[in-house]
Amino acid sequence: MGVIVVTGIPGVGKTTVMKKAAEGMDIQFVTFGTVMVDIAQELGLVEDRDEMRKLTLEQQKELQIKSAEKVAEMENVILDTHCTVKTPKGYMPGLPEWVIKKLNPTAIVVVEASPTEIYNRRAKDATRNRDPDSKEEIEEHQQINRAAAMSYATLSGATVKIVFNHDGALDEAVKQAKPVLN
Ligand code: ATP
Ligand code: AMP
Ligand code: MG
Repeated sequence: MGVIVVTGIPGVGKTTVMKKAAEGMDIQFVTFGTVMVDIAQELGLVEDRDEMRKLTLEQQKELQIKSAEKVAEMENVILDTHCTVKTPKGYMPGLPEWVIKKLNPTAIVVVEASPTEIYNRRAKDATRNRDPDSKEEIEEHQQINRAAAMSYATLSGATVKIVFNHDGALDEAVKQAKPVLN
């Protein structure tokens, strides 16, 4: 199966959807942010994952490359990551050429929901320190991510599948994602 990438803006539910879709399957579920934060903590750069997108771009890029090298050694992986990361300097590509070529995914899943749903989920989820974006900013970020996903597809030949994860419709989202895993 190689590598399948799952993306979606923070709080859209990508971890929830893909963990459920992969239940009972012989697939490793890897969160890129966890690989990155382990390295960042070893280097003493951050205490938690939500601090990383505020590091300098050079530091983020270094963590990104080191993490991609680790993941490239794994097989049968669902990689939970981001098409773009919203930094104070603008959208940083999550899978720039030197990363996508290492990972060489066969499919890229983009999980989406409506801006209002995402806004409310972020507000309710106290386990994370997510950015307080407006609904307009959330919409812009989703548009940017669709464009980014197709550009990664042209670099890797991966397919791009949009999966809608609407409120209370997790099972429907899982159903949409499943064919990518078979
Ligand atoms: P991040 O990029 O920050 O890791 P994420 O995309 O992985 O975010 P999750 O942590 O999976 O998002 O989900 C965000 C919140 O939305 C969680 O509280 C989760 O329980 C909730 N959620 C996910 N899917 C749904 C759904 N279909 N209906 C209602 N709530 C949902
Ligand atoms: P997550 O747990 O998916 O929210 O990821 C936590 C953090 O890891 C994100 O906020 C980013 O700072 C970082 N991250 C995850 N994936 C990438 C990526 N592909 N490129 C750069 N940073 C990433
Ligand atoms: Mg997540």
